[in-house]
Amino acid sequence: MKAIRVHQVGGPEVLKLEEVPDPRPAAGQVVVSARAIGVNPVETYVRAGKYNQKVFPYTPGADAAGVVESVGAGVKKFRPGDRVYTAGTVGGAYAEKILCAEAHVHPLPAHVSFAQGAALGVPYATAYRALYDRAVPKAGETILVHGASGGVGTAAVQMARAAGLTVIGTGGTERGRALVAEQGAHHVLDHRAPDYLQQVMTLTEGRGVDIILEMLANVNLDKDLTVLAKRGRVIVVGNRGRIEIDPRATMARDADVRGMTLMNATDDDLRGIHAALVAGLENRTLRPVVGKELPLSDAPRAHELVLEPGAYGKIVLVP
Ligand code: NAP
Repeated sequence: MKAIRVHQVGGPEVLKLEEVPDPRPAAGQVVVSARAIGVNPVETYVRAGKYNQKVFPYTPGADAAGVVESVGAGVKKFRPGDRVYTAGTVGGAYAEKILCAEAHVHPLPAHVSFAQGAALGVPYATAYRALYDRAVPKAGETILVHGASGGVGTAAVQMARAAGLTVIGTGGTERGRALVAEQGAHHVLDHRAPDYLQQVMTLTEGRGVDIILEMLANVNLDKDLTVLAKRGRVIVVGNRGRIEIDPRATMARDADVRGMTLMNATDDDLRGIHAALVAGLENRTLRPVVGKELPLSDAPRAHELVLEPGAYGKIVLVP
């Protein structure tokens, strides 16, 4: 089969399409024939050697959707031919065939496309964990999804809307903001406009927001603290550098800044998260948005695009 392999740290050009042996499932494992593969920013950080260094050569990725090709001994939940999505793999996801543990694999409802299925793993599980496990929302609260036009943001808007929150989402382009509105945000702002945080205060009648899901904390964290309501929580989902904040802004508000990484979710947490995501797909509150589909051989281009401004849902690779 063909797979993307990385032999050294470097730029997008180190993603090489190569011929490798087909994977075979051992006991408890599943091989998925991939129809679409999700590209996440984290895979660019790992490739560039900034995060979670891998042993070379490796195949990047964790998220995909397709059809079960074969199962190992003892696998009970899946049979060849089942439509599934993956959230985690044994040997990487940027490949025609993906080796997974049974626990990495989840059913994909018939009305959800494979490309949409590839948008689920990291973005939806992250949005779910950030919202439910870290922010712990109450219906009626107001949330600012700060960076709502990308993979995690669109997921968070759909979830927050379904949970009965008043949702403010931001996007950096007109197209991205239209997308955020389509996902159910009550109000949409431009995070490049000079006065947009004043608009947050106007929209909340001077109270501020109860929750902020922050996609770019190194740019926004200090300002976030100024638009937070009393007992507000900022959840740091994305961050690409350092920032100076004024801790005094947290004091009068009894405010919390809470970090999160999906990697801290336990197996038990992940079972619960994916049970909720499958239910959300079935009842159609969760509707993954695919903005761009590229052939697997264009993985280097996908790694450039995923870091460029102008996010529009998810970028997926098609083998
Ligand atoms: P993505 O699809 O590339 O989306 C990036 C988002 O950030 C877009 O909505 C983009 O908006 C927005 N953004 C750009 N400039 C911004 C600004 N100044 N203020 C607010 N938002 C801004 O990426 P993603 O997959 O959604 O991931 C988002 C971030 O979370 C990434 O940094 C990623 O590494 C991180 N992440 C963390 C975890 C975790 O476990 N903690 C898991 C998944 C992702 P425009 O392009 O419209 O400007």
